[in-house]
Amino acid sequence: MTRELKEVQGIIFKRQKYKEADLLAKIITKEDGIITLVVRGALRPKSQLNAATLNFSYGRYVIYTNGRGLSNLRTYKEVKQYDGLYNDLTKNAYASFILDLIDHAFVEYQPLGKYYELAKFALERINENTDPEMITQIVQMQMLKAYGVEPELRHCLICGKETGIFDYSIKLGGVICSDHFATENSRLHLKPKETAVLRTIDLLPFERLGSIKLSSDTKKATRKAIDRIYRGTIDLNLKTKKFLDELKLFNPSNN
Ligand SMILES: [Zn+2]
Repeated sequence: MTRELKEVQGIIFKRQKYKEADLLAKIITKEDGIITLVVRGALRPKSQLNAATLNFSYGRYVIYTNGRGLSNLRTYKEVKQYDGLYNDLTKNAYASFILDLIDHAFVEYQPLGKYYELAKFALERINENTDPEMITQIVQMQMLKAYGVEPELRHCLICGKETGIFDYSIKLGGVICSDHFATENSRLHLKPKETAVLRTIDLLPFERLGSIKLSSDTKKATRKAIDRIYRGTIDLNLKTKKFLDELKLFNPSNN
């Protein structure tokens, strides 16, 4: 593929120093996937490219690319920033984890489709003060498919029942109804309400989930369950997740 100038729309995340005054910044885009950009001279004082590629900036960027490897940022148009994410340590930690989770599910330049919209939805909501823990759990559940894990949450894995009381089994890969609680010992022993939350945030389109409100006990339980599902099915060890967990430990009011 030849190199070409191309305009992409996306959100900047993950910056690191590159050569001399240059910087590498990742951008998440819808059609062109996740791209690592070389931002020349970004570390020089007064660099405009630097200001346009701070974490959680979004807008239209003109890049020079051949569709693989590093691409070069040439200029930008209409760039804004999710200030709330940049300035607040807790929101920043949640947003960084969400983008990291998406980053690891795709190879560079692989189109993201609805997962781009999911990222945008999550960042916008957290930026606007929606409970970041709830938004993150929604993203985690909906991202399982992108990792090739397709948990069955619509109906009981054993008898197919769609309504009733359910629990989750990591071994079976989904929910089972209360008819089998006595005989199926691989279940997580979640409360019915907790499994109902997992089903809801997995099955409903995320656009409809922005205002879901839970007690802190339920939220803690579902977070634990989601973490167990991830640990039990995907080999991921994200620093951003570790940091987020530590942050919660030191600041219990975030739970
Ligand atoms: Zn059943």
